[in-house]
Amino acid sequence: MTEKFDSIVVGAGPAGIAAAYTMAKGGLDVLVLEKGEKPGAKNMFGGVIFRHHTEKLAPEFWKTAPIERHVVEYQYWFLSKDSHVLVSHRNQKFNGQYNAFTVHRAKFDPWFAKLAEDAGAVLINRTTVDDVLKEDGRIVGVETERGNVMADVVIAADGVNSMLAKQAGLRQEIPEDAVVLAVKEVIALPKQRIEERFNLGPEEGIAALLVGCGPGMHAGFMYTNRDTISLGIGINMRDLDKSKQRPNDLFEQFKNHPSIAPLVKDGELKEYSAHLIPEGGYDYVSKICTDGMLVAGDAAMLVNAINWEGTNLAMTSGILAGQTVIEAKKRNDFSTKTLFKYRRGLEDSFVLRDLKKYRDVPKFFSSNPHFFTTYPEALNELAYTWHIVDDELKADRIKRMKAMLFKRRSKLGLLQDAYHLWRLFS
Ligand SMILES: Cc1cc2nc3c(=O)[nH]c(=O)nc-3n(C[C@H](O)[C@H](O)[C@H](O)COP(=O)(O)OP(=O)(O)OC[C@H]3O[C@@H](n4cnc5c(N)ncnc54)[C@H](O)[C@@H]3O)c2cc1C
Repeated sequence: MTEKFDSIVVGAGPAGIAAAYTMAKGGLDVLVLEKGEKPGAKNMFGGVIFRHHTEKLAPEFWKTAPIERHVVEYQYWFLSKDSHVLVSHRNQKFNGQYNAFTVHRAKFDPWFAKLAEDAGAVLINRTTVDDVLKEDGRIVGVETERGNVMADVVIAADGVNSMLAKQAGLRQEIPEDAVVLAVKEVIALPKQRIEERFNLGPEEGIAALLVGCGPGMHAGFMYTNRDTISLGIGINMRDLDKSKQRPNDLFEQFKNHPSIAPLVKDGELKEYSAHLIPEGGYDYVSKICTDGMLVAGDAAMLVNAINWEGTNLAMTSGILAGQTVIEAKKRNDFSTKTLFKYRRGLEDSFVLRDLKKYRDVPKFFSSNPHFFTTYPEALNELAYTWHIVDDELKADRIKRMKAMLFKRRSKLGLLQDAYHLWRLFS
């Protein structure tokens, strides 16, 4: 027997669950199909979820959700081979007005999925969707190893590799320079030791971005959880190919950096994982609707790489997709014309407005990797030189520092970089 639902959501990540919850609350019959043994089992991220967007679905969620710590400090590290320059912002306001929370997806996603289930959505785990079903060119359901299931609208929220969006002809493979490979370790340490090492209170956490730790467009990340540290690197696939290095060797170099190693010393490796991030920005956002189908979250490549945001774009796109399906159901019209309202919703929200405004930024950094190599090195060299105390006159020191900088990047190059940054961000 082939069952029919108002909507089938493929993938129980932030995008899929936001869509399922929205539609179930709106009275629709919703089926969520997840290939993992439970939501979050296959998911890996840095990382943090954001209060503002998560609260749109679950007010004051931190009181019941399995969160790790709330972030009170944002750190930006500029690494050279054996040193670092650290810029950070800690604010007591983050203790009262929470902004972001570190979480483990394996714990958070099942909790999040339960919201949708409690609202009436049916979640079936361990079920991989193999293909979309089409009738007269319109998507009418999905094919799984357990059989076919029909729906008025399918929402593809199956993440960065979205087979469904490809099968529906809405997107292609992501080009190498628009995708980042991330590898991450979760390292266990006693809770108190994490708090001592990072100077944190019992519930407080840090979120850190680290640049200058490898070849090409390359960045590291570090998040404190309750009794673990999430440590990882992300490297542009094109630069990874060029470097001829293996991602885990790059990760080991990063982890053994003299500024990082003491932070994770004596920690026990709990988990090692790798995942792709679609970081190409606006120009790579897929087509997001066709007759009978919408695409949300990473599947549509909705990631803001500049601000390290993904879950909030996923949740927002899921909500907008869900609202669009509710509207379509009222009209009993599931054509592209009606479903296109979803695209307009995204265009009006921060999701596509931010991506559009800064659409040239990913390409700019991708073709100017010296921002991730030359500048962190130069910054460290300058900081070191400035702090040496000897008989050298300060005016001579500054002259020497200028010469050091211009040796690494010409005056014209510096001016061009400043001009481009100004243009890109204004
Ligand atoms: C290293 C790293 C660090 C990150 N850090 C952050 C951060 O700190 N903050 C932030 O906001 N974002 C971060 N992101 C981005 C964020 O994780 C994603 O943007 C977000 O998870 C996208 O949600 P999604 O629901 O679209 O996809 P996903 O979370 O990838 O969920 C997709 C789901 O679909 C399921 N699925 C896939 N194919 C099928 C199929 N055929 N059938 C059934 N189920 C299927 C998967 O198992 C998965 O559960 C990070 C990403 C990475 C890789």
